Amino acid sequence: MAKDAKSNNNGSDETARPPVLSNLAWEGFATTKKPDVPEGLWMRCSGCEAMVYRKVVEERLNVCPECGLHYRVSARRRVEITCDVGSFEEFAAEVAPTDPLQFTDRKGYGDRLAAEQKKTGQADAIIVGKGYVKGRPIILAALDPTFMMGSMGSVVGEKLTRAIERATEEDLPLVVISCSGGARMQEGAVSLAQMAKTSAALARLDEAGGLFISVLADPTTGGVTASFGMLGDIIIAEPKALIGFAGPRTIYQTIRVELPEGFQRAEFLQEKGFVDFIVERKDLRSEIARLIDFAGK
Ligand SMILES: [Zn+2]
Repeated sequence: MAKDAKSNNNGSDETARPPVLSNLAWEGFATTKKPDVPEGLWMRCSGCEAMVYRKVVEERLNVCPECGLHYRVSARRRVEITCDVGSFEEFAAEVAPTDPLQFTDRKGYGDRLAAEQKKTGQADAIIVGKGYVKGRPIILAALDPTFMMGSMGSVVGEKLTRAIERATEEDLPLVVISCSGGARMQEGAVSLAQMAKTSAALARLDEAGGLFISVLADPTTGGVTASFGMLGDIIIAEPKALIGFAGPRTIYQTIRVELPEGFQRAEFLQEKGFVDFIVERKDLRSEIARLIDFAGK
């Protein structure tokens, strides 16, 4: 049991502080808010409406124990459930966004960024670093759906490019876990340029004989699908993930044709050959390790 501050009766005002540990080591009193898992012991699953025990959901890597729905998770949580404990070393954390267009919609982009940064504790919508998966070194990038829906602006593009270049230089497998609404409209053409920038960096990785495993989580849409998301040597999707360019409603409104059952879901895309494997979150680490070994990396 943790040492209680009240038991510190040595007369000093200095109260006993808990030891500084990584988030992984905390038990019983989480300090970080887990997105999409509301506070409280119980939560209602948005997939099957069942009341499920929050702790069980977290133990199952944010997957519903009743219906198997894979909840969206923050980039920080992604890193935590993907890498071997304590092995992840983040880089390029200092890269922060600007507001080049002074863009304003319902809210100024600068104000929106500040609010998102305060909410998530992240500078932007991606975390990149070097880590290990079952003892195998990788360069990992995870997009953050809790930060402006994981949208790709200049920071996501820059950090991802640095990650790709690092994988190329160090000849390490690159794993990118996408979860994004697409390009960030508040950065206009600057966000669209990131599609070309990341794709060009991936072409250089490919020329150097690198391995790129692209993991698509729900949702992966727009400019992310249209660039690096679909450029993996191997493309893995989480079950029932929505993957596409424009959303089904937009397509329906444009072409006025009834869309087939399961359109743009991972299973449909696998059937059509766009996705290689559908892997449950609990098996993702084993699958990444297996693919790295298979590719001889
Ligand atoms: Zn459920």
